[in-house]
Amino acid sequence: MTATERAGAILTIDLGAVVDNWRLIAQTAKGAEAGAVVKADGYGLGAARVGRALAKAGCTTFYVARIEEGVRLRAALPAVDIHVLDGLLPATQADLMEHRLIPVLNSRDQVHAWAVHARHLGRKLPADLHVDTGMNRLGLDAGEVDDLLADPSDLDALDLRHVASHLACSDERRHPMNAAQRERFAELRRRLPRGRGSLANSSGIFLGKPFHFDAVRPGAALYGVNPHPDEPNPMAQAVQLQGRILQVRFVDSPHSVGYGATHAVARRTKIATVAVGYADGYLRSLSNRGTAHIGEAEAPLVGRVSMDLITLDVTTVPERLARPGGLVDLIGPHHPLDAVAAAAGTIGYEILTSLGARYHRVYLGDEAGP
Ligand SMILES: *Cc1c(COP(=O)(O)O)cnc(C)c1O
Repeated sequence: MTATERAGAILTIDLGAVVDNWRLIAQTAKGAEAGAVVKADGYGLGAARVGRALAKAGCTTFYVARIEEGVRLRAALPAVDIHVLDGLLPATQADLMEHRLIPVLNSRDQVHAWAVHARHLGRKLPADLHVDTGMNRLGLDAGEVDDLLADPSDLDALDLRHVASHLACSDERRHPMNAAQRERFAELRRRLPRGRGSLANSSGIFLGKPFHFDAVRPGAALYGVNPHPDEPNPMAQAVQLQGRILQVRFVDSPHSVGYGATHAVARRTKIATVAVGYADGYLRSLSNRGTAHIGEAEAPLVGRVSMDLITLDVTTVPERLARPGGLVDLIGPHHPLDAVAAAAGTIGYEILTSLGARYHRVYLGDEAGP
C-alpha cells in the first residue's frame, strides 16, 4: 500500500494554481513588479515548493517574515531576492549578509544600524524602507521620516530597493482608510523618491491601478484566498483536503455523538468517523458547523471536532460511498477555503496557516520534486 493509500488525510497542493494566481496578479498589476509573499511556510503550503514553482514562472522577489524563514528559503532559492519583513533585529547583520537577505527597515534606528554596517563594509547594502501610513504596527512614523530626511546620509549608504507601506483595510473595498493610506503613501513617495513604491497586498492589488505603484506584494491570493470575500473569487483554488473514513456506525435516539454530548441524534443516524481533527488544524470552532462531501452527497459535521477525529452524519449518503477506507472532501470544490473559514468564524489565511503537519501532502504541477 502506498503512503497516499494508507494516509488518514490527504492535502493536495496545486502549484499550477498558485502559478496561475501569480500570473493573474502580474497581469492585474501590469507595469508593477509582482513579488510573492511566502511567509509562514508559504501560508502553510510549503515555502520551498511554492517558491521554486514561482521562481520558475519568473518571480524574482520574495518576502518572508522571520530571518529563519529567509535562511531556509535561501537554501531552496539561491538566485532570488529575499526580503525579511521583520526587519533588522539587533546583531543580526552578519546573518542577513551570510544568507543575502534584504531587511525591510521598520524604524529610524534600523535604518541607522544597517547604514552603519554598510559604511563599515565600505559598500551600499540593499534594503527596503517601510513607512507607516496608518497600520501603526511596524514602519517609520512621520517623525522618524522627518528625521531621516533631515540628514539623508544614512539613506545614501543604502541601495534602497522598495519604499513600502501596508494597507489596513484593503479587503473592504469601500473602507475610507484605503484612500487615506494611498494619499499618505503618495505624499511620502514624493519626499522619498528613491526605490520602488510598494503598497498593495493581495486585496490592495484588486483595489485598482492607483494602488499598484511600482511593485506589489501578494500573499493570500496566490494560495486561493478571495481578496474581496463579498465578491466572486477571481483566484484558483490551490488546496484540497480529503479525510479518510475510519468507521461507520448507527446511533439511535436518545444517544449523542462525541465529547460533551453536544449532538443528540433525533432518529436512527449513520455516523462516519473521519481521521482529521484540530491537531491537523481542522479548527475546533467547526464543531457542529462544518460540512463535508462524499462524492456529490453532503454530510454535515455533527458533534465536536476532537484532536484526531471528526464525525459526520452520513445517513443520506449512498452506502457504497460511506464506507471505511473511503475519502470525504473537507476543502475543495464543494467547500472553498473562504466558505470553510466563514463556517469556522475566521479568515482563509488562518485556515491555510493552520494546515497540519500530519497530513499526507501531494504536490501537483511540480516536476522538480521535493
Ligand atoms: C503578509 C504581508 C503581505 C501579504 O498580504 P496578503 O494579504 O496575504 O496578500 C504584504 N505585505 C506585508 C507587509 C505583509 O506583512
